[in-house]
Amino acid sequence: MLEMREATPEERERYYKNEWSSKDLPDYILHTLSLREFGFDHKGTGPSDRYNQFMTPDELSDYLRNKYPYAVYSSVALYEKPSERKKWLKSELAFDIDAKDLPFRRCECSEGEVCEVCLEDAKRVTAEFGETLKNNLDLENVSYIYSGRGFHIRVSDDSVMEMGQTGRSQVVEYITGNVVPTDLTLSLGYSKVFRKRTLRTFENLRERDFIDEGLQRNFAEKIMKEKNRVMDLIKKGRLEKIQDFEGIGTTYFKKLLEFLTRLNTEHTDGKVTIDKKRILRVPSSLHSTVSRTCTEIQNIDKFSPDEAAPNFLTE
Ligand SMILES: [Zn+2]
Repeated sequence: MLEMREATPEERERYYKNEWSSKDLPDYILHTLSLREFGFDHKGTGPSDRYNQFMTPDELSDYLRNKYPYAVYSSVALYEKPSERKKWLKSELAFDIDAKDLPFRRCECSEGEVCEVCLEDAKRVTAEFGETLKNNLDLENVSYIYSGRGFHIRVSDDSVMEMGQTGRSQVVEYITGNVVPTDLTLSLGYSKVFRKRTLRTFENLRERDFIDEGLQRNFAEKIMKEKNRVMDLIKKGRLEKIQDFEGIGTTYFKKLLEFLTRLNTEHTDGKVTIDKKRILRVPSSLHSTVSRTCTEIQNIDKFSPDEAAPNFLTE
């Protein structure tokens, strides 16, 4: 993978003046540009310049070419008055899957860092969430975006745009597998989503994760020794049989289930999805911390972050 490093102000200027074009904005932003709030981060300290509105793509282009900000954000919401963040009309449903915040990382990245390995894992989680949104919830306008240190999913179907916080939080629970279904064995629907998510979470668990969680070492050892049997039971939806294992019992089974469902939700930042007024990095803008462009992805399975390298990094 190409180097990830901070872009200089000169490189930012070069990017917006020579490489970026408003045509690179995805249609769902281009067509609703004047209804969105824009936020800017000028110094790399966070998007503190908020409440900006642009009436046309050219107006935005002029601004970016003159200011070449450190980062560019826009609201998932459409407003009648975006410059006041008032008269909310509707919002996309968005998911934020950050490689640096995944509950398990197979790599040696330190806090805040990302690498090929954890980005690949975040990509896989993103693809799984997207599949569930499309196949189980029948959503059609599902876009994947590489955001620099992770991925976004943005859904713009009419059926979700007007959803309130409660609806959005239910979607998060469904997609991540946060609730234990009443019937775990159903071959389709949420029951299947839950088994898949829980299986992935359990597969990645190590003994020390149990201990970090405050669960006893001998319990962790027992579960890990029976790893294959537990995985088989999760696949079959027969999780309750785990409490019959010698030395496990109901109390530990409940703790295990709570632990697994909580880890399931930690694959995405649920606060982002629930927040109808959230701003997200604008696709096509530059992520100056890692020198990558925030990129709309056509084929998620084949995507590599190197495809999002700006010219100043590759030339
Ligand atoms: Zn990593």
